[in-house]
Amino acid sequence: MPMSRTCAVQSALFLLCSTVMLQSVHAAPAERWTLIHAGQLLDRPGRAPRSQATIVIRNDRIESILDGYAFPAETGGVPADATVVDLRNRFVLPGLIDSHVHLATDKAGIERQLARISQSTADAAYEAAVNARKTLAAGFTTVRNLGDPENVVLALRDAIAAGKLPGPRILDAGYSISATAGHMDGTLGYREEIHEFFEQRENTCNGADDCRRAVRKQIARGVDVIKFGSTGGVNSPIGLGLGRQMFDDEARAIVETAHMYGKTVAVHAHGADGIVLALQAGVDSVEHGTLLDDEGLDLFVKTGAYYVPTLSTVNGYIERLEKNPDAYTPDVRAKIEWRIGITGKSLEKAVPRGVKIAFGTDAGVSMHGRNADEFELMVKFGMTPGQAIAAATVNAADLLGLSEQVGTLEPGKQADLIAVEGNPLEDVTVLKDVKLVMKGGAVFDPR
Ligand SMILES: [Zn+2]
Repeated sequence: MPMSRTCAVQSALFLLCSTVMLQSVHAAPAERWTLIHAGQLLDRPGRAPRSQATIVIRNDRIESILDGYAFPAETGGVPADATVVDLRNRFVLPGLIDSHVHLATDKAGIERQLARISQSTADAAYEAAVNARKTLAAGFTTVRNLGDPENVVLALRDAIAAGKLPGPRILDAGYSISATAGHMDGTLGYREEIHEFFEQRENTCNGADDCRRAVRKQIARGVDVIKFGSTGGVNSPIGLGLGRQMFDDEARAIVETAHMYGKTVAVHAHGADGIVLALQAGVDSVEHGTLLDDEGLDLFVKTGAYYVPTLSTVNGYIERLEKNPDAYTPDVRAKIEWRIGITGKSLEKAVPRGVKIAFGTDAGVSMHGRNADEFELMVKFGMTPGQAIAAATVNAADLLGLSEQVGTLEPGKQADLIAVEGNPLEDVTVLKDVKLVMKGGAVFDPR
């Protein structure tokens, strides 16, 4: 048995290590081998699918992919008691990745405003766990959580990674950063006497130095990625519009500080001026990007930043308003009407220019577990099904810095995969009804 790296470098602890190694020999769990027979297999989105293949999985990783249907007895190195999963009448593809979710809530508008002062942190944590489970059941095995004022997703990320709870692997941004009066200023819409409670979040910043502090605060908490807002937001309960709300030096300070620590940066931006500001500052992805102009398009191409369209938000707005026409304050309602009318226009411009697109829904604004509804909208506004699937696999993996682990099905990568009925390259809506989800070599049981 190879000596662990910790043991090798800590020779002074050799005796202790020897003991640990002996114990681990006795306690070593049996290896788990699985063979998946895939009728159709899109192992590398962007290329043609293959038919009749066997995915050989050892523990949590893909060992090999073979042509035809192989069985344990005839496959070298695979024990006779390996599990065989019959997906010969299914289409198999990599587990999906949503680059923009908010797991801690499924409330919006006035209901959310109330929840933020009536709900405990423990309430939010349970809600996040339920939403994570729904997300995994929908075939999304990895997500990037972009903004968590409830302060629960960092712990959820670690609990899922430790196998304590079912859910997708999570990259988390902690609290999103914004200027005072900006989209993520938690005090907006509340009486001044309780502003102090929200200001404890320390996520608002004004001036370059203060913005560096705000980024470092999140990094100290252990976040994976930094999110900030350069423009107003549809959901912020204030009538400030959706244009730019930050100065050059503030945006630059945020991006430079995050990059210094090796963290990527996602920006919330609707107005064209705020998109340009963020791209000039060097962000890695622009979320929403609702009013994309020619300058913004040129900058996307020049910088190689990703565009994350989050078209599903309009589904969330429409469904909530159908249930309750007074779900939002008048300021927010006006912005929602505008957003519904303009949805998809930026994507229609970005696709022919070759802008890199990563899949992201803004689930939390739209409904958790319905993440795959985004595919239909992406196709409606200019992408082919194949491009939309690549956006949710190889592209999103690249944006999240996880290309070595997920996004394609290849030897050495995580065994994260889903199976659907029918060919999603012909009809992308079949992705809304996932028949099997496997994450890290384990089939998820949704019951
Ligand atoms: Zn969002």
